[in-house]
Amino acid sequence: MNTTDKIIAQARSENRTALLESEAKTIMTEYGVAVPKFQLATNEKEAAQIAQSIGFPVVAKIVSPEIIHKSDAGGVKVGLKTAADVEAAYTTIIENAKKYDPNARLLGVLIMEMAPSGIEVIVGAIKDPQFGATIMFGLGGIFVEVLKDVTFKIAPINTDEAKEMINNLKASALLKGYRNTPPADTDALAQILVNVSTLLTEHPEIKELDLNPILAYAKGASTVDARIILE
Ligand code: ADP
Ligand code: MG
Repeated sequence: MNTTDKIIAQARSENRTALLESEAKTIMTEYGVAVPKFQLATNEKEAAQIAQSIGFPVVAKIVSPEIIHKSDAGGVKVGLKTAADVEAAYTTIIENAKKYDPNARLLGVLIMEMAPSGIEVIVGAIKDPQFGATIMFGLGGIFVEVLKDVTFKIAPINTDEAKEMINNLKASALLKGYRNTPPADTDALAQILVNVSTLLTEHPEIKELDLNPILAYAKGASTVDARIILE
């Protein structure tokens, strides 16, 4: 059994359909998608120690099977620069989460390497009962939420099809560089799409997947949030 199978089996045995961010990211890593370094802390001191070993600045995020949209729960703090910042963030995140959902099980706080800023893109997937896994690509923020500028393809897809998805966006010119922003590494983004396609094909028990956001750079890309829902 590989790591992905084990994570899915573990979630099933606990009757969970929503994987934890840490579980989803471990799966993405197994499928060749780069994520920032992360480790779970279960108290303030441990959070600070992990941050020291990862290197500042870090991001801190709530880990709870019941909290899927972490920012809505006041469960994400970015740009933490010192051990004191991290300890304070741990306390605040736990307090916020308790207020947001008093019944949520709080497993701790994920301490994560802070990725440099880049162009935000998102990759999503849903399983259509008729067509199977459908993969979605878009630019983050207003492009998806307001302008609905997204492209779709049915899995499996190859590299050329992944590149088409990227080029078919109305706003794809934004990925080709503008003003002071260098072109994004669209080959790296195409590779993420192909890797997601492989994951979905090998694991039809995945009902929904969301990599939101992925930060795209001149070279490479970093998937800073990952969500996987099982059938
Ligand atoms: P949510 O569950 O609310 O979607 P995210 O994990 O996406 O939580 O975090 C919210 C925001 O914080 C992201 O959209 C991103 O802008 C920022 N962020 C999260 N993790 C990182 C990271 N490791 N490095 C840099 N920015 C991050
Ligand atoms: Mg997110």
